[in-house]
Amino acid sequence: MTIPTPVRVERCDVCIVGAGIAGLNALFAASQYLSRDQRVILVDRRDRIGGMWVDTYDYVRLHQPHGLFTAGNIGWTLGQDPSYLATKGEVLDHFDHCLNVIRQRVQVEEYFGWALESHHESDGTVRIACRSSDGRPMLVEAKRLIKAYGLRVAPNDPLEISSTRVLSVSPDHCDMRSGDMRDSHTPVWIIGGGKTAMDTAHALITQYPGREVNLVAGSGTFFASRDKFYPAGARRWWRGSTVSSIARQVSRRFDGTNEAAVANWLRAEYGVWLTPRTGNFLIGVLSDAENATIAAGLNSVIMDHFVDAVDRDGTTDMVLRSGATAAIEPGSWIVNCTGYLAGGDHPYEPYVSDGGSVISVQSRSATLHLTSFSAYFLTHLLFLGTLKDVPLYELDMPVLRRTSNAVFPYTIFTLAQHNLSLIYDAVPTKVFLDCGLDLDRWYPLPRRMAATARFMLTHRREREHQRHTLDTVRERFDVRCGPLDTSRERLVVWQ
Ligand SMILES: Cc1cc2nc3c(=O)[nH]c(=O)nc-3n(C[C@H](O)[C@H](O)[C@H](O)COP(=O)(O)OP(=O)(O)OC[C@H]3O[C@@H](n4cnc5c(N)ncnc54)[C@H](O)[C@@H]3O)c2cc1C
Repeated sequence: MTIPTPVRVERCDVCIVGAGIAGLNALFAASQYLSRDQRVILVDRRDRIGGMWVDTYDYVRLHQPHGLFTAGNIGWTLGQDPSYLATKGEVLDHFDHCLNVIRQRVQVEEYFGWALESHHESDGTVRIACRSSDGRPMLVEAKRLIKAYGLRVAPNDPLEISSTRVLSVSPDHCDMRSGDMRDSHTPVWIIGGGKTAMDTAHALITQYPGREVNLVAGSGTFFASRDKFYPAGARRWWRGSTVSSIARQVSRRFDGTNEAAVANWLRAEYGVWLTPRTGNFLIGVLSDAENATIAAGLNSVIMDHFVDAVDRDGTTDMVLRSGATAAIEPGSWIVNCTGYLAGGDHPYEPYVSDGGSVISVQSRSATLHLTSFSAYFLTHLLFLGTLKDVPLYELDMPVLRRTSNAVFPYTIFTLAQHNLSLIYDAVPTKVFLDCGLDLDRWYPLPRRMAATARFMLTHRREREHQRHTLDTVRERFDVRCGPLDTSRERLVVWQ
């Protein structure tokens, strides 16, 4: 007979599950409402704070200037130029710094290596069943639960291939700048055309000048031009456009049916790209200089999708989705850069529970463009007691992306504009002032103030067009894109 292990029980005011940038922003926001003697339990199945940054590829750099990737208003201690793009190690150090700063305000107890298994909400208490990686159970009783699961980014495996003459690797397990990759001189085939593919091409081309590097770019991608979104140095005073004004222009133009026209306009005004076609835009950022370096260093670009590498009599062929083939040299490298953001395996749950004490920040019920923003603002609304009263739209991101990649980015822009407008009317101004994630902060104060004034003057009257656009997307693609199941009366009050 086995004697059951007694279950350890911990009590706290808030339990946050997920210690990535979303969880950290939830923690920052919660700490504004808690006193020194109140307790937060932070749970993550990874072994340390940082979320996906813990195990993504070593040469990843932040897309945005580092100061804009933070928790609440916590500043960086790096001492670099504001336009510097932080490395993975520097990002992880900043996570540690943010946690230390927040710990000065509120008690935080960390449970790394623990996973949430289930939770149940009743009578104002949430009971959360957790388990450690070595199998120990724990029950957490909390007044509020914030599930900051994010996009479920996990390291990519190498692509499965039939050939035994070529090497298939993933950037997450093979650093392009060292080891076997450095010791070999054979061609590299990068599979994918998004940000990871660009990071990988840039690393290879700058590390090994003259080496054969090829790109199999699928439908192609265009990127937000860093020079136009975040011009460096004194140019911040007169060049570029605030991200809020770009988002406003996109959501004004997009009506739920005209994604091709909006893509053409956005690409021409604010984009940078190197492939002859650009079917994707995933809001990744690339500079003109990086783009030029990659374009000059690539040996070939194939606009097709990789299926397999197959050994035939004397040759090895890459087989492509169109049916075409391309011969590749034995010993070549196939690098899987096909993307991390599928995120479809999380079951749907609303961003706030029926009982109102549980928030869920993940892609199946997305409320803003990035999980960090969602966690920050939803936590404020939770503590202000208004989360269930604000008729935010929620969007099933992975389903929309699978159904129509083309409509996806412009729907995200519109969703964010719509929901930020509602949130603006529901929270004290300080909540926006303390939001260090705000990408407009790149620009000097006078430009930011002009952008804020424009937003304040126009945001309420633009909601109707935004709702109409989002409703059109819902009907056109039969995807979840609308308010929670709210009563008609409440909607009328907020219009
Ligand atoms: C290669 C790559 C580069 C990127 N670069 C940028 C960039 O430069 N700038 C930017 O803004 N965004 C970038 N992104 C987007 C990025 O994913 C987010 O910005 C952000 O870091 C995600 O944070 P998160 O907290 O939402 O999710 P995550 O970082 O994935 O954190 C979620 C955490 O929740 C934990 N968790 C989930 N379920 C459970 C459970 N049941 N129990 C316990 N723990 C659980 C996970 O272990 C994880 O640690 C990038 C994405 C990729 C894939």
